[in-house]
Amino acid sequence: MNKSDYQLETLAVRAGIERSQFNEHSEALYLTSSFVFGSAAEAAARFSGQTPGNIYARFTNPTVTAFQERLAVLEGAESCVATASGMSAILATVMGLLSAGDHIVSSRSLFGATVQLFGNIMKRFGIETTFVSQTDVVAWRAAVQPNTKLLFAETPSNPLTEICDIAALSQVAKQAGALLAVDNCFCTPILQRPLDLGADLVIHSATKYLDGQGRVLGGAVLGRKEVIDPVFTFLRTAGPTMSAFNAWIFLKGLETLSLRMEAHSRSALELALWLEQQPQVERVFYPGLPSHPQYALAKQQQKTGGGIVAFEVKGGKDAAWRVVDATRMISITANLGDTKTTLTHPASTTHCRITPEQRAAAGIGDGLLRVGVGLEAIGDIQGDLARGLKP
Ligand SMILES: *Cc1c(COP(=O)(O)O)cnc(C)c1O
Repeated sequence: MNKSDYQLETLAVRAGIERSQFNEHSEALYLTSSFVFGSAAEAAARFSGQTPGNIYARFTNPTVTAFQERLAVLEGAESCVATASGMSAILATVMGLLSAGDHIVSSRSLFGATVQLFGNIMKRFGIETTFVSQTDVVAWRAAVQPNTKLLFAETPSNPLTEICDIAALSQVAKQAGALLAVDNCFCTPILQRPLDLGADLVIHSATKYLDGQGRVLGGAVLGRKEVIDPVFTFLRTAGPTMSAFNAWIFLKGLETLSLRMEAHSRSALELALWLEQQPQVERVFYPGLPSHPQYALAKQQQKTGGGIVAFEVKGGKDAAWRVVDATRMISITANLGDTKTTLTHPASTTHCRITPEQRAAAGIGDGLLRVGVGLEAIGDIQGDLARGLKP
């Protein structure tokens, strides 16, 4: 299909389909680890890259290719590499594009495992990272060194939903001769397209909204072909590959993504407005609220506020745990981006390994709760939280 003729919602349903000889309507799932050749000469041509085609599923599988093409169209990217998880997407980016002696400037407000990957593991291989404030562009610019190769951000951040200015950071990256990578997990291309705003790379944990129903792990890296090629070479060699089965799940997930993101966003906004009215709630963090410090930037950069709401309960940890323990329906889990609403107390779970001082510096109070707003009736979600919010 000619991609420029269709809108995003249509492409999410139909892009990337290549039917087999059976003319199946729904996308085929190719569970095969290798592919056969008609002759010695054909095998040789395939391996040398002379003729395109599948060889071995560590680096090519038609179901994975279909997912890569569909997601690339949605992000407006020339090229996409699917990976086994969101973390392996980030690992493949760094291993593909950086070398010992290179430097990363990264937001401090990142997914916890990304902070560990940059701060501890990559450091052992001679790649240093400077962590800066998510929202302070001046600090990003000041942290750039002659050997800076990558700027890395995630917006909105987890759990406080801080927004970074993608267009401004892309200017900093350009001046530094570095690449800007944006983890677009929270917004998905339905709500935010970082490449349009000047980013060089988009990273996904497909595990979250792209699946949307909490079934499988996966990730992706997208960008211009020349930037993605070395990431693909790393994947082809080292093998943190997306399984065909998971790619098939994600293909079906993408078909309902725009409907789900709209519904998640609508309920999240309603929940955030309701929480602001609750006397036991100190503060609500949601980019779609006029009270959000970067409401204007969020409005400019994202289509909606997204599906994640955080709020600070009066009375610290005990009060927050009371809300968690009073729920009867909402899932107490660290995951998010699911049809089922999830509730997390970051200070004692996702952020328990950092010191109380570091937590305070990051703005993660003992009374903070994070809701991944699901697709249940909003009244039922409110009712479940209201029980623990009674004075
Ligand atoms: C979950 C998550 C990741 C890691 O993805 P996995 O699929 O769990 O490896 C990276 N970034 C963000 C923002 C996430 O929420």
